[in-house]
Amino acid sequence: MERIYLDNAATTKLDERVFKEMMPYFMEEYGNPSSVYSLGKNARQAIEVAREKVAKAINADPSEIYFTSGGTESNITAIRGLAYSYRRRGNHIITTRIEHPVVLETCRQLENEGFEVTYLDVDENGIINLEKLEDSITDKTILITIMYANNEMGAIQPISEIGQIARENGIFFHTDSVQAIGNIKIDVKAQKIDSLSISAHKFYGPKGVGALYVRKGLKFKKMQVGGNQERNKRAGTENVPAIVGMGRAIELAYEEFDQNIPKIIQLKDYCIKEIQKRIKSIKINGDASERVPGNVNVSFYDIDAEDLINSLAEKDICVSNGSVCISGSLEPSHVLLAMEIPYELAKGTLRISIGKYNTKEEIDYTLDVLVEVVDKLRKMEKKEKATCKYASKCGGNCSGCH
Ligand SMILES: *Cc1c(COP(=O)(O)O)cnc(C)c1O
Repeated sequence: MERIYLDNAATTKLDERVFKEMMPYFMEEYGNPSSVYSLGKNARQAIEVAREKVAKAINADPSEIYFTSGGTESNITAIRGLAYSYRRRGNHIITTRIEHPVVLETCRQLENEGFEVTYLDVDENGIINLEKLEDSITDKTILITIMYANNEMGAIQPISEIGQIARENGIFFHTDSVQAIGNIKIDVKAQKIDSLSISAHKFYGPKGVGALYVRKGLKFKKMQVGGNQERNKRAGTENVPAIVGMGRAIELAYEEFDQNIPKIIQLKDYCIKEIQKRIKSIKINGDASERVPGNVNVSFYDIDAEDLINSLAEKDICVSNGSVCISGSLEPSHVLLAMEIPYELAKGTLRISIGKYNTKEEIDYTLDVLVEVVDKLRKMEKKEKATCKYASKCGGNCSGCH
């Protein structure tokens, strides 16, 4: 078997059709979009076409789309930009404990700068409680920032309901929709979303480019000063090829939605079912139905995910533990902890994220390898426990204290 890539939540392979669309903007149409001659105008035109495509995909107006360097920048710009623009109305922000590090870190930074942040808990399936959200609103609340879909265990939040609650209370609602774009149909108007983040490399577009949607009429302080690009909201010469690529990628994602998504869901359901059937002592994390199409998140008892991922990597199977937080450190994932998954189980967690290029043969091969590797690692673990010289201290219930 050749390389099997099952880490599509980390990034995706560029679609060849997207690459083709980008090519002319490197060598031929290389003008600066701010220049007045035709070379510049062509680049400007290409950016505006891409803007229309991004807007159309989420039912926004092109004037509500700002191009950025990716999901990270879009989230920071939206959260800080809105927080500081509406500071006089209040200083309270509501988010969740399971956000991507960029949102959590931005919120912590704002706390240091005098804002107050409520971090909502999630249930055992990773979903927030809407009543608790309503209860946490105060007369100082200006912003709710809740991710659309989680990058680790794939849970999808009740976005339309959150939008409704926010709108009724006169609070802005931002959502990190990086994992949702291309996987879920989004309508910012119907769902009452005030701002939203997009990153192209999660839907077969290029890395280092993203977009921020901000509803017309809302003010947000710009984070990057300099030239007056992006209607004076984001300084810096536009990354024309990447923007063009993102436009094509988002267009393809929704044009081919009905062809790709059911196939991905089928592979994911099959993968989960087979793991449950063939491997003992496991736990599937995340919500069964409110879940990103390709996400499989599974915890194995008596296994260290690092060993599992490395063993799979030896066979050229690319998977991850779903979180940059636990790789290389003893810190378990903040997402799994928020779901009250015990440390012992959290550290044995694997994320398989299936994408449009994966096949059933690849899943079958991966399952065979997984069954074999889990068995081998568990036998080793057992042996290690039995021979651990500290066994007398912990009564043989070794938790890796040595
Ligand atoms: C990947 C990801 C980001 C970061 O996007 P970049 O474009 O890589 O900066 C933010 N939020 C979520 C949920 C993500 O999955």
